[in-house]
Amino acid sequence: MSNKVLIVDDAAFMRMMIKEILSKNGFNVVGEASDGSQAVEQYKELKPDLVTMDITMPEMDGITALKEIKKIDASAKVIMCSAMGQQAMVIDAIQAGAKDFIVKPFQADRVLEAIKKTLG
Ligand SMILES: [Mg+2]
Repeated sequence: MSNKVLIVDDAAFMRMMIKEILSKNGFNVVGEASDGSQAVEQYKELKPDLVTMDITMPEMDGITALKEIKKIDASAKVIMCSAMGQQAMVIDAIQAGAKDFIVKPFQADRVLEAIKKTLG
């Protein structure tokens, strides 16, 4: 059975890019969310094996969403997607339980490496 992934990013083209990398490599993208509160709702509904989580989003940001998801499922596997210059937020996210992070612009190899390592 292929691993279920939820992609969270407010930019549609970013979601599309990650989805393409994952789909090509045998992962099952079960959902997409464009802000943190949608991500939390979809997490409850879809119970994905892994979440890719953007940091900067309207309504609820990725770090808040990560914390909410961790409250629901302490073993949730979340990888943060950060932009250059967001190191401080990445550290916050890792302390809040994120497994790894990938930096935009994404390189397919790095995305896959982070995901495979996180899924074990
Ligand atoms: Mg964003």
